[in-house]
Amino acid sequence: MTVKKKGPAPQKPIIYSPAYDIGVKGMEKLHPFDLRKYSHVFNELVQRGLIERGQEMAPAKLSREDIASVHTEGYLEKLNDKHELARIFEVPLVEKMPVFLTRKLILDPMIAQAGGSVTAGEAALENGWAINLGGGFHHASADKGHGFCAIADITLAVKKLREAHPEIKKVMIIDLDVHQGDGHERDFRNDTDTYIVDLYNQDVFPGDMDGRRRANFNGGMPNGTADKEYLEKLKAGLDKAAEDFKPDVIFYVAGSDILTGDPLGSFNVSAAGVVSRDEMVFDYALKNKIPIAMLFGGGYQPSNAGIIADSIENLDRKFGLLKGKPGNPAP
Ligand SMILES: [Zn+2]
Repeated sequence: MTVKKKGPAPQKPIIYSPAYDIGVKGMEKLHPFDLRKYSHVFNELVQRGLIERGQEMAPAKLSREDIASVHTEGYLEKLNDKHELARIFEVPLVEKMPVFLTRKLILDPMIAQAGGSVTAGEAALENGWAINLGGGFHHASADKGHGFCAIADITLAVKKLREAHPEIKKVMIIDLDVHQGDGHERDFRNDTDTYIVDLYNQDVFPGDMDGRRRANFNGGMPNGTADKEYLEKLKAGLDKAAEDFKPDVIFYVAGSDILTGDPLGSFNVSAAGVVSRDEMVFDYALKNKIPIAMLFGGGYQPSNAGIIADSIENLDRKFGLLKGKPGNPAP
């Protein structure tokens, strides 16, 4: 008698590739970041039984033309210059590394993740939601990269989605990374079909005043902001957005750098606060039947991967996204 091997169940709209991980093992000693949080989160989701290996969706492979469609030639040339790369990635060691190596260890993973953001847009339209376990490079824009963001994946994902689906016009970007999303604020400066909700620490990088004026909901908050003020501000932002604008799709930058202890964030939001935040955003999207594509954004403390997995598990529990039944909490 032969026992049929059970293959992986159908694909789930979680987008991931091992190519997402940045650098090499041990490189984290040179940068205050867990640069391999992408595989760490994926492995957590597998361990918790939320997804089986092979059920994840692969990111779209981007061509040079795809990338050139949202960046200037001048900027793309800069990506061959080690001083520019060191500035974008804020890793002084990059100055000493050959350009090919920097591209391979840092830039190529970011391009892979940017492809995942494109796939997440498509998958969100099909499933109502999708999560790219990477991307959300919200400081990158057409002619500028900085703040560890080289590829304007949000701009690219929006552009690709609008091209492929003429009925998709109105886009909402909900950017809850602790840093202001100056990249998409610049790229969508004159686009009235894109509505931006931005909650950020007003006392830290990047302090782009034009971008702040561009945000439709400009949610700057001071150093040390904690759960209560943060979640109240988010509720105000979502309420205003719901009143102002009816999007065809939402791109959600779920930076976990609002977490207390983040060396670059300086907010004081707890792990439970991060979980509640993601739940509020998904609740708004799913209740209103707006497809939502969640992207990672920043947040690289070693604890973050587990907290992101907790949050995805909670979304599953509350909304039945992956395996749970909505409103039927797992033990
Ligand atoms: Zn950030």
